[in-house]
Amino acid sequence: METEVVIIGGSFAGLAAAMQLVRGLRKVVVIDAGKPRNRFASHSHGIFCLDGKSPLEIKTTALSQLRQYPTFTFVEAQVIKVAANAENGLLIHTAENSFFAKKLILASGVQDELPNIPGLLEHWGKSVIHCPYCHGYELSNRELGVLANHPLSAHQAAMIPDWGPTTLFTQGNFMPDDKQLTMLTKRGVKVENAPITGINGDGKNITSVALADGSERALQGLYVAPKISAITPIVKALNCESEDSPLGEIIKVNEFKQTSVSNVYAAGDMSNPMQNGSLAITSGVMAGISVHQSLIFD
Ligand SMILES: Cc1cc2nc3c(=O)[nH]c(=O)nc-3n(C[C@H](O)[C@H](O)[C@H](O)COP(=O)(O)OP(=O)(O)OC[C@H]3O[C@@H](n4cnc5c(N)ncnc54)[C@H](O)[C@@H]3O)c2cc1C
Repeated sequence: METEVVIIGGSFAGLAAAMQLVRGLRKVVVIDAGKPRNRFASHSHGIFCLDGKSPLEIKTTALSQLRQYPTFTFVEAQVIKVAANAENGLLIHTAENSFFAKKLILASGVQDELPNIPGLLEHWGKSVIHCPYCHGYELSNRELGVLANHPLSAHQAAMIPDWGPTTLFTQGNFMPDDKQLTMLTKRGVKVENAPITGINGDGKNITSVALADGSERALQGLYVAPKISAITPIVKALNCESEDSPLGEIIKVNEFKQTSVSNVYAAGDMSNPMQNGSLAITSGVMAGISVHQSLIFD
């Protein structure tokens, strides 16, 4: 199939980009494997006008609005290969189909790598969370913890007391320096060096964490910052330049969301150093507009 734009990823960033393009009367194919990053959470928060809606409801509404536009096509599939084409475009392959596009927007999100602690994954997106702006309100005024698994954990721990009494679990790995300790003390954060070895709860609400010294700590919410990776085999094959972000490698883009590769743009978590649904939507809008303009002026 020949089209003007293919977007890989049909979530916040990809669908926001598509909306700009179809309103510009451009032919857009969004290919989506249906695994958005927030699929573990029952509700999304902090998104203007959508606070409290489920991720699925948000996507369904966006898709139903996009389907009103005749130049929009949505394909439920996994893109398995992308190659630059001699005719100044790109060939995008799923297992079943191939697409030729003049422009490509990567909006395939990031992979989260979570610490391997028994009980953590079961509670991920419910009471083990990564972002206070997304789910902190729902867990406020409870015993909270921050699992230190990267250098910014002390900074996060110093924020969390706004939501409830906080303990920083250093895991024995990320010991705060003197400056950080002063800040944590000022904010009333307790520091626990015995590593968390297990998380107890009913699969939704956690109740306590087990520590390596054999003790147990009552806890109702635990903040964990996953390591992220945006560098999929497709990104590698395209040879897009990447850059470091606090939590992992992301794709390098300019202010118009253009990557280092001609005709390839990137939006959403995979190219945003700070990540949430609203920021993904914003960058998707910018990518959509930039691609539209490049179709006119290139
Ligand atoms: C547990 C959790 C809860 C969260 N809660 C909130 C919240 O309440 N509020 C908020 O603002 N933010 C929240 N976030 C952050 C938010 O989920 C992300 O910022 C947002 O989903 C990023 O949007 P995106 O479009 O960049 O990527 P995603 O939403 O991750 O979507 C990427 C899409 O690309 C698809 N894809 C990937 N590879 C391919 C491929 N090869 N072929 C085809 N499709 C592909 C995926 O299947 C997926 O559908 C949460 C994150 C997590 C982890």
